[in-house]
Amino acid sequence: MQALVGSRITVVARGHLKCSTSLTSGLASVNQRRNASHDADVCVIGSGPGGYVAAIKAAQLGMKTVCVEKNLTYGGTCLNVGCIPSKALLNNSHYYHMAKSKDFLERGIEVDNVRLNLEKLMGAKEKAVTALTGGIAHLFKNNKVVGLKGYGKITSPNEVTVALEDGTSDVVKAKNILIATGSEVTPFPGIEVDEEEIVSSTGALKLSKVPEKMILIGAGVIGLELGSVWSRLGTQVTAVEFLDSIGGIGIDAEISKNFQRILTKQGIKFKLSTKVLSAAKEGGKVKVSVEGVKNGKKEEMECDTLLVCVGRRPYTANLGLEELGIEKDTKGRIPVNSRFQTVIPSIFAIGDCIHGPMLAHKAEDEGIVCVEGIAGGPVHIDYNCVPSVIYTHPEVAWVGKTEEDLKAEGIEYTVGKFPFAANSRAKCNNDTDGLVKVLADKHTDRMLGSHIIGPGAGEMINEAALAMEYGASCEDVARVCHAHPTCSEAYREANLAAYFGKSINF
Ligand SMILES: Cc1cc2nc3c(=O)[nH]c(=O)nc-3n(C[C@H](O)[C@H](O)[C@H](O)COP(=O)(O)OP(=O)(O)OC[C@H]3O[C@@H](n4cnc5c(N)ncnc54)[C@H](O)[C@@H]3O)c2cc1C
Repeated sequence: MQALVGSRITVVARGHLKCSTSLTSGLASVNQRRNASHDADVCVIGSGPGGYVAAIKAAQLGMKTVCVEKNLTYGGTCLNVGCIPSKALLNNSHYYHMAKSKDFLERGIEVDNVRLNLEKLMGAKEKAVTALTGGIAHLFKNNKVVGLKGYGKITSPNEVTVALEDGTSDVVKAKNILIATGSEVTPFPGIEVDEEEIVSSTGALKLSKVPEKMILIGAGVIGLELGSVWSRLGTQVTAVEFLDSIGGIGIDAEISKNFQRILTKQGIKFKLSTKVLSAAKEGGKVKVSVEGVKNGKKEEMECDTLLVCVGRRPYTANLGLEELGIEKDTKGRIPVNSRFQTVIPSIFAIGDCIHGPMLAHKAEDEGIVCVEGIAGGPVHIDYNCVPSVIYTHPEVAWVGKTEEDLKAEGIEYTVGKFPFAANSRAKCNNDTDGLVKVLADKHTDRMLGSHIIGPGAGEMINEAALAMEYGASCEDVARVCHAHPTCSEAYREANLAAYFGKSINF
């Protein structure tokens, strides 16, 4: 660490950088350094939640840090076309739906002539994205991270060559290189995405009108969130899913069934165990051919917008890995050891481009511990304690093992459940769909998993993650005083049921 603090950053300009006016203010500070010659302790490639957080942490630990980003704005998938824009649309479409549907009426609020202004709704989303991506440029400046806008390629174990917009390139000499290049949408073979009628998640975040009918390929997390947005705005949404359940990888089967029932009640249709064969644009519509996985029955479907949401894959194009002898695994991920080191000790990788769930907070945590490790500190993440959230209404959230995992692993367990229908705050809010389900070791009462579908599940799950990180028992959680009336009391009650066999209010 001491040795790192004394070193300098190298940004050797091999040509003249013409400044694009559309670049954010972070670039201005880079240009002032253009002719300087320095060495970097860490060069981070990618400014998503993994990369930008790692770069700031590295700088805060005293390391001279450069962060290279190929896009015009910082923030990666998460801030530009992922978590942030989707949550802005989910939040505001929920308000619209409450006002438009009978929900407001039942609460005694009569609003006449509720109308959607889609342009303004999209504008509010853009405002959130612009504020947050711009904020990273300020954070870089405040923490003395040098931001370089260009395409980074690793040209030796201690060198990154950055191709700039104007065709020239810079070279960063770095003691350590951290790959945080993230992921991209997985294409569906034979279906061409035009981001207008046939869209990926990126196109679904900026449709210019509300489609009459939408078909989703894939009832996973991203598909269901975006399907919910458009369903609330008036689209008839049908989700076609190859599996026989919804919610993607890691969801508890009982919660998934409840989730499907609630979304069906909200108007979303599901075609499970169904495989999409092909899709094509025809006469202003998109025709989709599907086939039953179990019975082979073929069917033709039609929609105005087809949303292809079959997952994401690591993005490592033209990064120079092959030339350096860094081989990817069968899923295109960069293999790393427990310190996030590749086979080349000076090159590290974190986030969506390595193993593990593709989640922003997982990428952030990896980025932080990885640079702490570079600075000489310990490196540890318990992936069992990384929570997952689906931001529909109600929200779905979980951490730890599912009941299916425990059965498969032969672990004896107890279950504690509590329905939101019996929770006083949920009752006050007329928002009672869902339940909490807690799983604990039968012999020690140690919490093994928490699964929540209900109001505020995405916030409540952090209590569960904290308990799991501390190795808490369900009794520990049940004995913590929880404020009343809160939805979190349902979480406490489920823990009580897990360790004592009975809750108080149900
Ligand atoms: C619609 C949608 C909604 C989502 N919602 C959530 C959510 O609610 N919660 C959640 O946890 N996750 C969510 N995700 C997933 C989340 O966005 C990702 O897990 C997260 O962004 C991964 O972070 P990362 O830093 O690894 O990579 P990314 O965010 O993908 O960032 C990688 C960055 O590297 C840059 N880059 C790549 N190659 C180079 C190169 N050679 N040179 C320079 N720059 C390069 C890219 O331009 C990009 O900016 C969502 C994703 C989508 C698509």
